[in-house]
Amino acid sequence: MRDNPHIYFDNNAATRLSPSVETWLKDNFITYYANPSSLHLLGQKLKDMIANDRRCIANFIGTNAKNIFFTSGATESINSVLQPIFLQEHGIEIVLTSRLEHSAVSSCVERLKRHSIRVLYINNDADGMLCPEHLSAQVKAHPHALVTLLGANNETGVVQDVAQLTAICRAQDCLVHLDGVQMLGKLPVNLEEMGVDYASFSAHKIGGLKGMGVTYAREPAQFTPLIIGGGQEEGLRGGTYNAGAIRSLRLALEDTRHWDLEKIASMRDFFECAVKNLKTKAQINCENSFRLCNTSNIHLPNQPADAMVMELARRGIYVATGSACHGAEPSHVLQGLGFNKDYAASCLRFSFANFNHSAEIEYALEVLHEVIDS
Ligand code: PLP
Repeated sequence: MRDNPHIYFDNNAATRLSPSVETWLKDNFITYYANPSSLHLLGQKLKDMIANDRRCIANFIGTNAKNIFFTSGATESINSVLQPIFLQEHGIEIVLTSRLEHSAVSSCVERLKRHSIRVLYINNDADGMLCPEHLSAQVKAHPHALVTLLGANNETGVVQDVAQLTAICRAQDCLVHLDGVQMLGKLPVNLEEMGVDYASFSAHKIGGLKGMGVTYAREPAQFTPLIIGGGQEEGLRGGTYNAGAIRSLRLALEDTRHWDLEKIASMRDFFECAVKNLKTKAQINCENSFRLCNTSNIHLPNQPADAMVMELARRGIYVATGSACHGAEPSHVLQGLGFNKDYAASCLRFSFANFNHSAEIEYALEVLHEVIDS
């Protein structure tokens, strides 16, 4: 382990390619260069391949092929749903959100404010759970709003009860959008059972290619596309089909069936237990909530997190200060939990994956001990 280690614990930011994806890309990617919208045989073969993949992907998330369309990633999917034109065309004047969202959502919401859409925030507790009573009061006061929910938090791993929150919203005729990016592979996802109206997902968090996302729409006919062009995706999203990336999502989803979530959870639990026994008074953020089995967000008192990321990387361990998107800024999510900037600036996120193993965790713990306690 000590010889040139390469230990990747940043899987909520991006994962390495899933085995089936890697094999498929090596063997096939250069073959499938034609345009799936072309009428000739090569194009039509790709069109059929996409239709088949679309059915599998839809089935995997508990819906039908006609209810999903492919995008360049979850950020685009989220932008499509939280776009001013779509909301205005549907008479939606109020959007309910939380202070714990990924910046793909929080940036869209900030823009909505500039388009005269009122934005209200659902309260959360210090363990990152949204308050159902507050949501209930808000939707009663503002029926027909759009509510955007983060199913599983990318920084803390906290999991919301999406079905319960959605039922509260739908009772008041509110539309619900789910940012389900971090749920895929780690939690069961059945969109029709959950009852959401829209949902956004990404391929590169589960071993698919980057730049590949999917949007779910319960009523696609009522959707206003963000990107228009050549009529692809039944007019829901213009732009040449990226058949290889779509295949990567399908294969990655299939590979998640072989993830050993219990193994990941026990590695994570072992890690947290040991971290709490470091001499420094380390704390696990949102420890009391139901969290993704792979995510651990820890506070290391008086240890600047950005310096820690660099020091750990020097020793071959790759972790994050939180979302890859907020760079060096202390996490708005941790601040949304009520922690101050100084506290947030001393927090690290470890996000594990199926390919990690316990020797890597033990090595990381040794290094943490050396760096912090000595
Ligand atoms: N939402 C969440 C919860 C995420 O973790 C991410 C990625 O970090 C996104 C949205 C954006 O996804 P993408 O990188 O596919 O645009």
